[in-house]
Amino acid sequence: MKKIEHIGIAVNNLEEACHLYEKLLGISAYKTEEVASEGVNTAFFKTGANKIELLEATSDDSPIAKFLAKKGEGIHHIAFDVADIYLEMERLKAAGFQLLNENPKKGADNKLVCFVHPKGTKGVLIELCQEINNP
Ligand code: ZN
Repeated sequence: MKKIEHIGIAVNNLEEACHLYEKLLGISAYKTEEVASEGVNTAFFKTGANKIELLEATSDDSPIAKFLAKKGEGIHHIAFDVADIYLEMERLKAAGFQLLNENPKKGADNKLVCFVHPKGTKGVLIELCQEINNP
């Protein structure tokens, strides 16, 4: 794994959270994007080499809606940049980690992504992500 690519934060209201994070970080979101397959609206902020992803649920059965109902707003996942997501998935599977998807899927911000179950990572949902244009 190369570096932390972004930290995902679950929020109740994306517009309100965007205003707050614009104030906090002193910059505007560089992108907002709906990921229909995950039932989320997202907004991304870039602070130096790091990114913050705000996530809002678009439906009641979205994983974000379930997270918010259980834990409330807060850090939802930590995403790591990987060079070869297939290789990392194989490596983690062999090491006994439970992957939440069998194959990489198209995530927000032009990435292939895979999630690692928080049960095996001390309660932290881990996302692997690989830039699609950057093999
Ligand atoms: Zn993410």
